[in-house]
Amino acid sequence: MKTIEGGLAGTRLSCFFCATARAPDLGTQCLACGGSLAAVVDPAAPFPLSVAGFWDYAPVLPVGDARVSLGEGSTALLKLDRLMPGDEVYVKAEWMGPTGSFKDRGSAVAVSAARALGAVGVICASTGNNAASVSAYAARAGLPCVVALPKGTPANKIIQAKAHGAIVLEVEGTFSDAYACANRIQAASPGWANLTSTYLNPYMTAAHATIFYECEAELGEVGTIVVPIGAGPMLDGILQGARLMRDQGLIETLPVPVGVQGEGCAPIAEAFSRGLDHVEEWAPPVTGMPGSINDPLRGYAADGTRTLAIIRAAGGHAVAVSDDEIRRAMLDLGRSEGIAAEPASVTPLAALRRLDHLPRPVVLVVSGHALKDGAAQAAAGAPSLDIDADADPQAVTQAALGHFSQKLRA
Ligand SMILES: [Zn+2]
Repeated sequence: MKTIEGGLAGTRLSCFFCATARAPDLGTQCLACGGSLAAVVDPAAPFPLSVAGFWDYAPVLPVGDARVSLGEGSTALLKLDRLMPGDEVYVKAEWMGPTGSFKDRGSAVAVSAARALGAVGVICASTGNNAASVSAYAARAGLPCVVALPKGTPANKIIQAKAHGAIVLEVEGTFSDAYACANRIQAASPGWANLTSTYLNPYMTAAHATIFYECEAELGEVGTIVVPIGAGPMLDGILQGARLMRDQGLIETLPVPVGVQGEGCAPIAEAFSRGLDHVEEWAPPVTGMPGSINDPLRGYAADGTRTLAIIRAAGGHAVAVSDDEIRRAMLDLGRSEGIAAEPASVTPLAALRRLDHLPRPVVLVVSGHALKDGAAQAAAGAPSLDIDADADPQAVTQAALGHFSQKLRA
């Protein structure tokens, strides 16, 4: 296949399970065992210590000279001074990505890699945020894009993908059915890159290291990092970054990773709590609020096993939280901190409330904006007060004060 703009010098693809390595290509699996891949950069690559933006990390990312950018990365790190005063708890504001979610880091790197490897188009399965993001970067790269989504995906995410010119396939079933659909099309389409954000695209996984790099640059150390997980590549990428920094002597210890799922679809948390060393497909019906991470792993449970192994190796945790806990976290972050996020994105706060004695500082990765799923926001049931616009001005401000006090007591 044609390779443009210098390819991906310095990067190798390595199987997570059997360590067989090869030069970068658009493949999604190990050719020896079928396992998932990691995009490994030269471990001696100079880590950038003076950084002004996302692409300054390029020496330690699997990218070549081709750069497809919409202004990703460099998201804010917000201390939760009102919700958790006196504690060292921060939110990494990943909804500030160009398309409103953390997926933009992965799309920037994976679409850049796809261009460097001569891709003629991109395809992905998604619960919505990845489709919104991949389609934007494909448009920016001048590549055609197909996205496969489970029926019932929040309308705003579909609107984003269509606005970016993607072909949208709505698939009957769960994310796993959309995953199979995207794989089937890609397998029959030479030169098309698969940007499904499970472990099919190793460049996308590696991009999430930048979340860790940015937190480290601001805090000096990260004790614990809590992330929502479907299959878990964000958590994997974050730990890839932490290991690289440790191996270069830039940090002493890895952060404790916590992966969070919703109780209605929690294959990884279930395996963790049962003490298993492998993850099984989620057999029960998929239910619950955090649609972005409701991934039953049907047909690719080994992805869950990879995430479980990474969590265990780093002394971390996998937990499942309830819809009630998610609703509480949505209301608290919105009303006390001005952070309105979609249900999956607040699961880290819900998990933190369950786990004592996590090392500080703690970073909660809040992955997607509330506007991604307006129906879920409405369902969370934030109390509101309807007042006539013509009402007496003092009555309006008195009512606002009362509403505010009620919030503080809630
Ligand atoms: Zn292998």
